Amino acid sequence: MRILENHSLEALNTFGFRVNARYFVEASSVDDLREAIAFATQKNLPVVPLGGGSNLVLTGDQEALFVHVNISGKRVTSRNDECVGVTAGAGENWHEFVRWTLGERAYGLENLSLIPGNLGAAPIQNIGAYGVEIKDYFQSLQALDIHSKELKNFALEDCQFGYRDSIFKQSARDRFIITSVSFALDSKWSPRLSYDRLQQEVEQRSDGSPDPFVVSEAVCGIRREKLPDPLQLGNAGSFFKNPVVGEALLKKVQAAYPDVVAYPFEGRWKLAAGWLIDRAGLKGCRHGLVGTYNKQALVLVNHGGAEPDDLLGLARHIQTVVHDRFGVELEVEPRVY
Ligand code: FAD
Ligand code: NAP
Repeated sequence: MRILENHSLEALNTFGFRVNARYFVEASSVDDLREAIAFATQKNLPVVPLGGGSNLVLTGDQEALFVHVNISGKRVTSRNDECVGVTAGAGENWHEFVRWTLGERAYGLENLSLIPGNLGAAPIQNIGAYGVEIKDYFQSLQALDIHSKELKNFALEDCQFGYRDSIFKQSARDRFIITSVSFALDSKWSPRLSYDRLQQEVEQRSDGSPDPFVVSEAVCGIRREKLPDPLQLGNAGSFFKNPVVGEALLKKVQAAYPDVVAYPFEGRWKLAAGWLIDRAGLKGCRHGLVGTYNKQALVLVNHGGAEPDDLLGLARHIQTVVHDRFGVELEVEPRVY
């Protein structure tokens, strides 16, 4: 294991910001992680685990040890008429893992196809798309405690999963490095097509008898059409969470904007943040080297050569405009370092 000093993270953050980590290391085992933690402790520096860098904003050079978690391996652990258990290392690419599960006749994750990043980061914000979240199929995970260097098992109830949220963004923030994740997937497939756009795409591709591969490909097709490829245009997906508001605020917004996109959510209402930004006139806007994507206003993009401050300035501008117009607060989704 080689610890590198002043290492560029440009290729490891999907905004493509040119920032350096004071120290950087590739870790392919739990022993590597323990060694990395010992090094950081000795230098009195924080440890930052890194996957694909697709859900973070690096605002400048980082006085930390960045650990690229490369632990690989995936296997089926159990199978019966209802359920297939699978376990994989945190360094596995998420999309390849999803495709592998389908090949193993283990169903449920197909709506989450093509989400960038690695398996180890998936529980951090309980990744979700098209009506499915990982918590729906999650069984447990193993994580290394950065303080004690002991491995700890987290069952579903320990993770406190919420909407793009988990204990790892709250009370256990910065405390654990996830090393592997286990899922209990379905042996028998049933489609989850509550999102109109996905249902239409699946219908078009399947002549009425879809299978999980068709759904996965439909999801990939829609995503490729609507979202920028970070290799072409720097971005971290949705920059803001969809705000969840009470009935009173929804009514107020609806009075002025009857076509506001809102879905019932746990007794409250989830507003489509992309719609709010669009209706505020900011879809496809360009502020210097940054802007919002012209096909999905919720995605902030680096047109090339932007500085992190340009992006944060645009984000603040969007938050102000949306607040002034709708009275709704937008919360940043990616982790800002
Ligand atoms: P990173 O960006 O490397 O890390 C994110 C956070 O997790 C950091 O705080 C990091 O320290 C921490 N972390 C990473 N690995 C570990 C580990 N092993 N242990 C502990 N902490 C760790 N998200 C969705 O939920 N749904 C979507 O549909 C979706 N679509 C996207 C589309 C695009 C085009 C892009 C660019 C992003 C999208 N995202 C989406 C966001 C992102 O892909 C996910 O959040 C993904 O899980 C991040 O994985 P990563 O490996 O890139 O994490
Ligand atoms: P969309 O389909 O245009 O829908 C806009 C918003 O409305 C979505 O954010 C979604 O909320 C909500 N929505 C739509 N249909 C719904 C339904 N039937 N029930 C409940 N809520 C509904 O969204 P999109 O931008 O093209 O994204 C498609 C999916 O990919 C979404 O699930 C989105 O979350 C996910 N995605 C996430 C990221 C990220 O970085 N987090 C990036 C790209 C795409 P939800 O967001 O809660 O699903």
